[in-house]
Amino acid sequence: MKVSEHYERATEPLISFEIIPPKRGGSVKSVFESLDLITEKVRPPFIDVTYHAAESQVEEKPDGTLKRVVRRKRPGTIGLCAAILHRYDIDPVPHLICEGFTKEESEDALIELNYLGIHNVLAIRGDDTGTQVKMHTNGTSNKYAIDLVKQVQSMNSGKYLEDLVNAQKTNFCVGVAGYPEKHFEAPNLDWDIQRLKEKVDAGADYVVTQMFFDNSVYFNFVEKCRKNGINVPIVPGLKILRNEKHLKSLPRYFHLNIPDELTEEVDANPGRVEEIGIEWSQKQSLELMEYGAPGIHYYVMGSPHPALKVIDFLQKK
Ligand code: FAD
Repeated sequence: MKVSEHYERATEPLISFEIIPPKRGGSVKSVFESLDLITEKVRPPFIDVTYHAAESQVEEKPDGTLKRVVRRKRPGTIGLCAAILHRYDIDPVPHLICEGFTKEESEDALIELNYLGIHNVLAIRGDDTGTQVKMHTNGTSNKYAIDLVKQVQSMNSGKYLEDLVNAQKTNFCVGVAGYPEKHFEAPNLDWDIQRLKEKVDAGADYVVTQMFFDNSVYFNFVEKCRKNGINVPIVPGLKILRNEKHLKSLPRYFHLNIPDELTEEVDANPGRVEEIGIEWSQKQSLELMEYGAPGIHYYVMGSPHPALKVIDFLQKK
């Protein structure tokens, strides 16, 4: 089922998860173990799987010379999505990224997904980390997420990159990213919300937010989005603080603020950081549900345990 249909039919807030494929050479067993734990506790309507651009690195050979290596550190998004669908009968949501892909490759990926019976994607730009492989082909490219949204919607109306006779219409639901504390490249939040509105007008069916630790930024964001005519579900994305390093690394990588109250509590209790993070997320989740959020999307990535403790708490409420 499409993610948009899950939200339309929901009678209570939906709990969903985002996972990351294992590193190249890693075992899918650990992903299944996490998903087994999740599905024992809650039946998520959908599970997102992130996508990772190929990167180019310089490595030293045993003889001391250097070689340039190009590899995707975490391949397997589409395969993992197919496994989730067939093993758990849960709708997978593969992330598709613009960065490092030609439009032609994105079209091929969408055809694969369509054949697999996967009808949801999260259309994302990706980041230029400076180590990604530049495209060498003569293919075309999507610059912003909106370009990918438009490409998916074209295929939904039977228009592929080249004119094809009797081309089949695909039937994808498309999610996009939103930033309650604004995207780091945007000059200000209002400007960023205008760009989000353009993604929705281009056919995005719902928005998942970047993680945040202060619910007031989400409330403010939703209010501004509604005032600007963005009427699709805006799903809060939550990450649980797990260690002291997160206090610096999360703001650095995700351009977000961590409230003083949380940092002060961690500083005063360095031995209890994960517990504090779980309690904070429990309060955040409860308040978001009371506010009327359509659901909560937990960024569990490798470890589901903290999120499951939050869900346990919510189930007892
Ligand atoms: P866009 O919507 O393209 O926006 C990027 C910036 O460009 C914004 O500042 C926007 O305001 C601006 N902009 C948009 N349109 C225009 C325009 N026409 N002209 C000028 N400026 C414009 N990264 C991955 O690599 N893999 C993943 O799986 C992944 N999953 C994610 C999931 C979620 C829910 C979120 C929130 C982020 C995810 N990311 C992922 C990170 C994401 O790739 C980065 O945040 C990236 O910098 C922006 O992606 P976007 O889709 O929001 O970009």
